Amino acid sequence: MAYLDLSGQFDYMQNLDEIEKLTKIISKLPGLGPKSAKRIILKLINSRDELMKPMANSLAEIYSNISRCSSCGALKSKKSVCKNCDVNEKKHNKICVVENIADQWSIENSNIYQGYFHILGGTLSSSNNQKKEDLLVSSLVDRANKDSIDEVIIATSATVEGQTTAHYIKDSLKDTNVKVSKLAQGLPVGGEIESLDDGTLFSAFKNRKSLENNSD
Ligand SMILES: [Zn+2]
Repeated sequence: MAYLDLSGQFDYMQNLDEIEKLTKIISKLPGLGPKSAKRIILKLINSRDELMKPMANSLAEIYSNISRCSSCGALKSKKSVCKNCDVNEKKHNKICVVENIADQWSIENSNIYQGYFHILGGTLSSSNNQKKEDLLVSSLVDRANKDSIDEVIIATSATVEGQTTAHYIKDSLKDTNVKVSKLAQGLPVGGEIESLDDGTLFSAFKNRKSLENNSD
């Protein structure tokens, strides 16, 4: 089916309230400004049935079904149990603690680590209002106390906030029997997990160091 070419219609588009509204929303997404937002909207308008409708449905579905698990912080569908921390699935003996979901995805994509994840939902910082209570730490202690878990690997960023948070987690786990380790110094200072290449991540995991002796 041939579609009307709307590429010369940017000025006209700007006067439509509905499009202005969506442009403002899309411009808030990472890496997108008003210009690319308009390009996306044009593409959607030109592919109403192939793109716009399935996208609208898909967004509505994600909005109502997908949320963070209250125990491990990973994304889960309300249609099923959390695949990351389902108590009936004792397939791993390690938990990797990360700051956010993007970090989990980076580590998963690199295939370096086989185990459970625990997503804190941020870091401790003096410069923002993130409080200890905002981070999912007490449920981490509960998870670490399960018999099947041998090791908790702290994979927070090599930033001041990330390291402060690592300290706090290590402290919170002191009454458990698990081995607590932290990613190795291979991490560049200021390095955020999400932005590391697979090689750096691999050596950071492989050379992770135990925090048992209060050395750090
Ligand atoms: Zn979970």
